[in-house]
Amino acid sequence: MKSLKPTKIICVGLNYIDHAKELNMEIPKEPIIFLKPTSAIIYNNDTIVRPKISKRVDYEVELAIVIGKECKNVKKEDAMEHIKGYTILNDVTARDLQEKDGQWTRAKSFDTFCPIGPKIVSDLDPHDLDIQLRLNGEVKQKSNTKNMIFKVDELVEFVSSIMTLYPGDIISTGTPPGVGQLEKGDIVEAEIEGIGILKNYVE
Ligand code: ZN
Repeated sequence: MKSLKPTKIICVGLNYIDHAKELNMEIPKEPIIFLKPTSAIIYNNDTIVRPKISKRVDYEVELAIVIGKECKNVKKEDAMEHIKGYTILNDVTARDLQEKDGQWTRAKSFDTFCPIGPKIVSDLDPHDLDIQLRLNGEVKQKSNTKNMIFKVDELVEFVSSIMTLYPGDIISTGTPPGVGQLEKGDIVEAEIEGIGILKNYVE
């Protein structure tokens, strides 16, 4: 994983039907995207550090697309040939700052707020994978990637219509229902069928 050098991490907000229903929100008509800085990346078994300025730091398990070939304005039909594979991303978020700021950059960008891993897998169907998050062994988020509103090929088409994607760039596809808070001493495990478990500690 450490050889992966993304130039950017693009995340999609509100991309699970069951999560949108949970929040009583309308299904978005086009993807809502934001960026996380690459300086926030940590790996499997690393520690998430909660900044003092936030009183509520949340986990969000997500399926992440890893780009394999430079591309711009890719059509949906050609999207898959530009993908290297898939991994797991925990979109750690300072929820209180997200609400306070009215935009998401600070809340999503602290160092250690982007655990990725444990590996990149290319040979799987990204739209039929069980996805779950466990906090200290207890299941907190549980869904299947078939519940994604915008599919992997649509996301590559959409994002590449805005910005050039380079090998190693990451598109994280949004989180299912059940997001919640991380506390000191927690062990957080994000698991996706066929990829594995991304485990991190919290301090
Ligand atoms: Zn997210």
